[in-house]
Amino acid sequence: MTRAAVIGAGTMGNGIAHVFAQHGWEVALVDSAAGALEKATATIRGNLDRQVKKGTITPEAPGQILGRVKTGTSLEAATGADLVVEAASENPSVKFSIFEQLDRIAPRGAILATNTSSISITEIAARTRRPEQVIGMHFMNPVPVMQLVEVIRGHATSDATTASVMETARALGKVPVEVHDYPGFVSNRVLMPMINEAIFCVMEGVASAESIDTVMKLGMAHPMGPLALADFIGLDVCLAILDVLHHGLGDDKYRACPLLRRMVAAGQLGRKTGRGFYTYDTVKGER
Ligand code: NAD
Repeated sequence: MTRAAVIGAGTMGNGIAHVFAQHGWEVALVDSAAGALEKATATIRGNLDRQVKKGTITPEAPGQILGRVKTGTSLEAATGADLVVEAASENPSVKFSIFEQLDRIAPRGAILATNTSSISITEIAARTRRPEQVIGMHFMNPVPVMQLVEVIRGHATSDATTASVMETARALGKVPVEVHDYPGFVSNRVLMPMINEAIFCVMEGVASAESIDTVMKLGMAHPMGPLALADFIGLDVCLAILDVLHHGLGDDKYRACPLLRRMVAAGQLGRKTGRGFYTYDTVKGER
């Protein structure tokens, strides 16, 4: 496999396209918004320049890598793809529609992967006539830096599809981990209850946000405290994932903290709005 299509050119899509192109794949990067494609190309270029400064790639590499990324606004670009990675907005109806179309457009043998954080792989796969070739390929943000790819098998995903995607992730320099399709997979099922509990601690006045994060950083060797991480992910995204866990697993231990719900209602979504558990300079994104 050497030809990939990446659908969605936002935060995750540009990083996924970057990593595939850096490892020699021809990439069709598709977004319904032309502006997102321009922004993605500029982001990839900036990140490649940083890699040159660090000495991890040669000065000639950015031109070659960017030369392998073709952008466009139509899903028809997936016509020649061996592997499609969908990284469009986290909205079930958006993803269902994309997969119905991809099933018609992509070659019969192509694998259709999704980078969803919380939508059922099995439900997405059921929108296609090739559910055995549909799989979760959950990259972490920032994609060029983070090593993990959580590979999620839907109910019908075949062994051959799983083996192929695990091998591809390794060839991209990542470490894949195979998991099964239950709400939140492993990453968010373990992470989100910790973040939620940290928010309960703030709400109940157990300690300040800084103190809670310091306990987890210095006491548990986490590189980032849970509240700073929640601000980084986006509090609206955290709330949506907790609601998926609560609904999907039916256990009240996943109920979202009322303070989280209130902050989202107030528009305090973390880093992206300049205010969450911390305040940020929205231009520089610094605390
Ligand atoms: P984003 O909002 O930054 O980008 C989504 C892009 O999808 C936008 O540019 C939008 O124009 C485009 N889009 C929407 N509908 C489309 C369509 N029908 N066809 C083509 N493009 C379309 O979102 P993101 O943060 O990059 O997240 C993308 C996916 O990755 C989501 O499923 C999310 O759950 C998952 N994810 C996100 C993170 C993260 O930290 N941001 C981490 C892991 C996984």
